[in-house]
Amino acid sequence: MLSRLNDTPCSGDPAEGPRAHGATPDLGCADVAVDADAGERRIRERVAAFEELLGDPRDEGNPFGNAALLDADERGELSAEAERALAAFGLNDEFVPSALGGNLDRIDGLARVLRPLFRRDASLGLGYGVTSFLAAIAVWAAGDEAQRRRTADLLRGGGRLAIAYHELAHGNDFVRNEFSARPDGSGGYLLDGRKDVINNAGRAEGLVLFCLTAPPGQRGPRSHSVLLVDTEGLPEDAWRVTDRYRTVGVRGCQVAGFSFERCRVPGDALVGRQGGGVETALRSFQITRSVVPGMVLGGADTALRTVVRFATSRELYRRSVLDIPHAQATVASAFTDLLVCDSICLAATRAVHLLPEQTSVYAAAVKYLVPKLLQDACYNLSIVLGANFYVRDGDYGVFQKHVRDLPMVSLGHAGSAACQATIIPQLPRLARRSWTQGTPAPEALFRTGGGLPALDTDRLVLAAEDDALVASLLAAADRLEGPGEAGAELAPVRALVRALVAELNRVREECLALGPHDRTAMASPHAYALADRYTLLLAGSACVNVWLAQRQDGGAGGDGEGFLANPRWVVAALTRVCRHLGLPLPEEADEHSEWMLAEVLGRYHEGRSFDLYDTHLAGPLVDDERAAARH
Ligand SMILES: Cc1cc2nc3c(=O)[nH]c(=O)nc-3n(C[C@H](O)[C@H](O)[C@H](O)COP(=O)(O)OP(=O)(O)OC[C@H]3O[C@@H](n4cnc5c(N)ncnc54)[C@H](O)[C@@H]3O)c2cc1C
Repeated sequence: MLSRLNDTPCSGDPAEGPRAHGATPDLGCADVAVDADAGERRIRERVAAFEELLGDPRDEGNPFGNAALLDADERGELSAEAERALAAFGLNDEFVPSALGGNLDRIDGLARVLRPLFRRDASLGLGYGVTSFLAAIAVWAAGDEAQRRRTADLLRGGGRLAIAYHELAHGNDFVRNEFSARPDGSGGYLLDGRKDVINNAGRAEGLVLFCLTAPPGQRGPRSHSVLLVDTEGLPEDAWRVTDRYRTVGVRGCQVAGFSFERCRVPGDALVGRQGGGVETALRSFQITRSVVPGMVLGGADTALRTVVRFATSRELYRRSVLDIPHAQATVASAFTDLLVCDSICLAATRAVHLLPEQTSVYAAAVKYLVPKLLQDACYNLSIVLGANFYVRDGDYGVFQKHVRDLPMVSLGHAGSAACQATIIPQLPRLARRSWTQGTPAPEALFRTGGGLPALDTDRLVLAAEDDALVASLLAAADRLEGPGEAGAELAPVRALVRALVAELNRVREECLALGPHDRTAMASPHAYALADRYTLLLAGSACVNVWLAQRQDGGAGGDGEGFLANPRWVVAALTRVCRHLGLPLPEEADEHSEWMLAEVLGRYHEGRSFDLYDTHLAGPLVDDERAAARH
């Protein structure tokens, strides 16, 4: 567990090298369960407090309001007032394990707490906050006690960490990176080289650097190491921050680079063991890739909300735009896609705790699929917004900002194709070993709340041997065919799950037929398409199992009546998944556009989120706002 990691000496000797599954050194120790109710209560309270801090998005004087955020975006800045407010709120505590005084003990909770910020502004989300988390995770996973304490103190004091893995010359192929840290002969290292396109390069107090430490001519999987460097102590003439990059989206982020020349850093900068950089990076990526998509979903929530605002208020042909059936269907489908995305985000973030041995494939899947579905949904919504999509300020200006910001998630920190490339080599083995006889995931994987075992980073491995999410799809199919769920009203769910299982069988056959060439970076386009289909099957499994878990729990009110316990949303979600897969739809398929639209409008008018959690959002209710405007 992260928090436990920080106060318990590790028993394994890092020098012992690879553990079971073969690739990485010990990263963690024994775990301790997080107190379920207290943990869930804390997440809800923190989300509510954060939402209150963010305030009314339509208030022009609010630093977290649309007008101020759009203005900052136009200037290519992060609002200093907003950053001060986030510091005063103690946002960085979310990135620090609880054993070190922070709030971090659940990865699904981290996504939920950060989502309100991404609902406002991805630049602040990344630029103020998450970048520090992406850096710190390597220290929580592999650092020693002093490094963890130093990092916790820095973040809790409002400081920032930058993370510098990538280099322009090598992109996603970061194991070829050349930025070097050579022993200086007196226990320290000499840093040489450049890192470019690094968020907060010029304003972070701490740097997490991925460096080549192997001697020239001895490149291999243990060539690189991670270093934690304090910028304050660096000799001024041995390093400099390079020019800023201007970006299409997340314009407020201060993306620059740095250049080092024989810059001495002390030996205690080394995080983990020398040569352990690739393993540390790949384990850290499993956590960060799992959690970030669940945060950025907030941006698509705002995009949908903005379009609903437009479509309900603009009149055409003596009716509102939302009376046009095409607009209705688009809005309803976007909401359904958000629920599909949130279901896979939920499973992926909870898998980090419950199925860490399988997280390598789920992290890549969610990082690949969610931004793609959200971007597609936003494209469709932009058609409803019409020419207003092109307007950069005013009532609907935030839409174009979120549309520009969203792709950053597909680009940064492992691109979409690189995520598919992580999945592809695992497919034949999973297809052979797990897809017909795997053990289903525990039901807790699909619960929107409730406790989780503590996170044990020691159990994160580089290749999954089992695939519980696929097994859960098959288990759901069996359950729906069984006597317990025999009702005729469930026939559409049954038919759609059957369609997904048939698709799984086709994907399985094709995965088993992949040749050795397809297990390398030079895999065929067909292998990439298989990875795409696989991620949609995982999403389908997540949806049906989230719904089953809600039925089991009796829905939100415990009476089986809550929205998520209703089969209509899951029929709509599975229909969307089948559409995305390009499958012929079973007769029973139905997007339930009218019903989903009614839910969208209910949530819109009452100021509630468009996700699985249906949380209250800050700001006046839409009807109150209109009444105020009339007076
Ligand atoms: C706004 C912004 C902020 C950033 N901040 C940081 C930061 O703070 N720290 C940091 O380290 N980096 C940061 N980056 C850098 C970013 O993470 C890297 O640039 C990125 O991961 C490498 O991507 P690339 O598009 O340059 O890809 P390249 O690796 O050059 O890939 C180009 C294309 O080749 C194909 N390709 C690449 N790999 C594969 C593969 N395995 N399989 C199949 N096809 C493949 C894909 O089509 C890909 O799009 C940032 C980038 C941006 C835009």
